[in-house]
Amino acid sequence: MQYVKGIGPRLAEVLAAKGLATVDDLLHYLPFRYEDRLNPRSVAELRAGEMATVIGEVRNSGLFRTRRMPIFQLTMGQGRAKLKCIWFHAAYLQDRFQAGQMVALYGKVEEDRDGGLQIMQPQFEILGDIYEEGGADEAEKKAAASLEIGRIVPIYESTGKLTPRWFRQKIRWVLENLNPDLPDPIPAAVRSHLSLAPMREALFKAHWPDAGESFNDLQASRTAAHIRLIFDELFFIELGLELKRREQKAQTGIAFSLNDAVRAAIKKILPFHPTSAQKRVLKEIASDMQKACPMRRLLQGDVGSGKTIVAFQAAIIAIENGYQVALMAPTEILAQQHYFSARQILERAGYRIVLLTGSLEQDRKRDVRRHIKQGNAQLVIGTHALIQDRVEFENLGLVIVDEQHRFGVMQRLKLMRKTDDARVERAPSPASADPEPDVLVMTATPIPRTLALTLYGDLDVSVLDELPPGRTPVVTRSVADERSPEVWEFVRKQIAAGHQAYVVYPVIEENEERELKAAEQMHRQLREKIFTELHVGLLHGRLDASVKERVMREFQAGKIEILVATTVIEVGVDVPNATVMVIEHADRFGLAQLHQLRGRIGRGAAKSYCVLMRGGKVSEEGERRLDAMVRSNDGFQIAELDLELRGPGEFFGTRQAGIPSFRVANIIRDRELLEAAKREAAFVISGPNAELSNGEIDRALREMRSRWAASYGLVEVG
Ligand code: ADP
Ligand code: MG
Repeated sequence: MQYVKGIGPRLAEVLAAKGLATVDDLLHYLPFRYEDRLNPRSVAELRAGEMATVIGEVRNSGLFRTRRMPIFQLTMGQGRAKLKCIWFHAAYLQDRFQAGQMVALYGKVEEDRDGGLQIMQPQFEILGDIYEEGGADEAEKKAAASLEIGRIVPIYESTGKLTPRWFRQKIRWVLENLNPDLPDPIPAAVRSHLSLAPMREALFKAHWPDAGESFNDLQASRTAAHIRLIFDELFFIELGLELKRREQKAQTGIAFSLNDAVRAAIKKILPFHPTSAQKRVLKEIASDMQKACPMRRLLQGDVGSGKTIVAFQAAIIAIENGYQVALMAPTEILAQQHYFSARQILERAGYRIVLLTGSLEQDRKRDVRRHIKQGNAQLVIGTHALIQDRVEFENLGLVIVDEQHRFGVMQRLKLMRKTDDARVERAPSPASADPEPDVLVMTATPIPRTLALTLYGDLDVSVLDELPPGRTPVVTRSVADERSPEVWEFVRKQIAAGHQAYVVYPVIEENEERELKAAEQMHRQLREKIFTELHVGLLHGRLDASVKERVMREFQAGKIEILVATTVIEVGVDVPNATVMVIEHADRFGLAQLHQLRGRIGRGAAKSYCVLMRGGKVSEEGERRLDAMVRSNDGFQIAELDLELRGPGEFFGTRQAGIPSFRVANIIRDRELLEAAKREAAFVISGPNAELSNGEIDRALREMRSRWAASYGLVEVG
């Protein structure tokens, strides 16, 4: 970037901080809207209610101080017609404008009190100095001016001191200096299947549309240029995923046998009748496991849909075939919880289970590792430290990753790689010549199918779309803080009826310290002031493992009636007798998280209640989240809304995990292009053929590898 004319090392750093590290990034920094400065509206023809770009001359401007705020007002004129513009709290505009300057304004036209027209808070650009006469570089000025006026003009998001105009000039310069002979990395056949514009042309026109281009298409990113750029981005991701998938399919795995003895063993452990969804999903998993290629399956199921038992059944298939199973959970509490149920369900049936977590004492850890290495331990349950800490298995046959959404996609990919490492480090076993273990990934985040295709394109997907019988939907209410006495009274009644309750302080990552204090304080207050006659427990991530375990055990056994907790209980915790959950500051937390939390109740036959407390001023988005929670118990519905409110990046946890944050594509808006990209990726991988040469395939794969390496740090893909 720093070698672009007029950028240099200092600006390059500013841009890099904004995620624009290379010239290629800059080229994909597309305008967020366009202004029609070819046919700007004349003031005389403006109508109240429309969005419009208007170009005219500044007549006068000034700052008014009302009692409440400073208001900046500007009058722009075109001949005799006038338009008033108003900015609130805008003392900073005071010295920006001079009478006679040309300005471009964009905003919603309204009628003012005197029947004239005005635009409130318009976006503006001062074109004034473009028209100034003279100066050293007349030609350059003219060229710059021609970028600002008399055409469709791209409007970029400014960053710090870098204005839209700055981006316009730099990007234009780069476009004009692009090597005209760059080969197109997308094979010609693929381009012709979809009538895609050539790359160079697409880049140019996405920034500088032709005069006749449709404004609707531009705004919707649906011009030929946009489509090409979006497809381009999706295609190389899909190509990587497709290749990965084929390679996995080609590897040798373990063909587990599913004979009558195994079937009987699976059935024997069931403490209840499985739902038909559970039966179907187990069948899908079992059929994968019987095949010689390694299983890579994602199991999606809403909170409480009963994934655990299905995982246990899959584990039995592997164990009965003489293999070991690793079950990994994102938190220590969840690992313990699984250990607890595995002991109830599996140990009783004679299977040998160990728990391996980071906080075990050294001696104990060494013991457990020995058991694993010697093959005594059949099911190993642990946090993902389990795999990351070079554990040697005697013969690992199946890896189950629970609550994958807590890991993030990149971590998942790393885990898969660790699985490979685990295989490499496994003590050599004469029986098998290094087959790949099967992998089952479970998640409670329901992802619309097409989206699952992008992010998990290398996995097969099963869905548990049915809840076990007898669940009544959780009754959810959103309640203001002031009413907490009533809420506590309600909790007391539920406990008197023999139930238990959670009081949750969701931890916000950046001020965890303070939130923990809040949970601790709340715990003290509830115990000493409100529920003096009851047992109130406290659970948060910073407690010693032994304390956590004891608290969970006591809550499970009903010795603790009220559990004050942070979001450590978000995943997996299963105490069916708990029927109330009070969530403090509920408005500050994401929908997915709220839904997960609420999933801790409504697990038994008794009616359950979720109380969302909100204090102080709640943001509009916060209100919408609370509202969604009150209205729906359906994970899919909630996920779609969440996706809508937060956008895909946040939804999939880009922040924590650094997954595909797309430069131009938007996987919600561009679902169809995503499907097309997947189809074309499969076409390219299965080539060469009459339409597609080896050289083209190689070029596309090279491009894919360099992009995956640059964006996801996964050089080994493909
Ligand atoms: P999740 O999918 O959220 O991991 P769990 O596996 O923890 O859900 O199951 C939630 C609860 O439902 C557990 O108490 C489990 O014992 C119970 N459960 C699961 N399947 C059934 C079933 N088919 N019939 C009755 N209860 C079930
Ligand atoms: Mg679970």
